[in-house]
Amino acid sequence: MKAHTKETQATMTPEKSLQYLKEGNLRFQNNLKANRNLLEQVNDTREGQFPFATILSCIDSRVSAELVFDQGLGDIFSARIAGNFVNEDILGSMEFACKLAGTKLIVVLGHTSCGAVKGACDNAELGNLTSMLAKIKPAVEAVTEPKDENLRNSSNIEFVNNVAEKNVQLTIDRILNESEVLADMHKNGEIMIVGAMYNIEDGAVTFFE
Ligand SMILES: [Zn+2]
Repeated sequence: MKAHTKETQATMTPEKSLQYLKEGNLRFQNNLKANRNLLEQVNDTREGQFPFATILSCIDSRVSAELVFDQGLGDIFSARIAGNFVNEDILGSMEFACKLAGTKLIVVLGHTSCGAVKGACDNAELGNLTSMLAKIKPAVEAVTEPKDENLRNSSNIEFVNNVAEKNVQLTIDRILNESEVLADMHKNGEIMIVGAMYNIEDGAVTFFE
């Protein structure tokens, strides 16, 4: 598989980009890899990059977007932050990736058993982590079940995973509400924004559709 070029990027649509990621994750789940020579791709991308998708995911060491979607050099922009939420800087990065560098798809990728989400559920406090986790709290509050406070913490993994999913949805809402550039591109059909969850137990990505 070759690195994307200006010509191949121009043939990509939001739907085709999503299809590429779905196929890549299926290869990953089946322990198959596209035949690509990374060193050759270094050379092929030396004059420029023409990626087709932008993926926002967690820093979790098990959730590397390039690996779980079986992508090579020059294929995707990868923004990573614990708890995969957006702030002004990440929105700016996404605007660059879509408006200036031509990617057609934004994926907000949450994952099961997320440590950042667990921290937010448990009201963990530590240095700068405290204010970071506060950004995931709206998702904790938006998941209304169970009501019993004793079940609303990291020992309840179903609750944790529901919060992680809600966090993905709220992040997409924030992208559309806080980035005029991306909201316009989305409205015009130039880009698609989709949420997804990665299951750390089997390597499968489930897209919300
Ligand atoms: Zn995580």
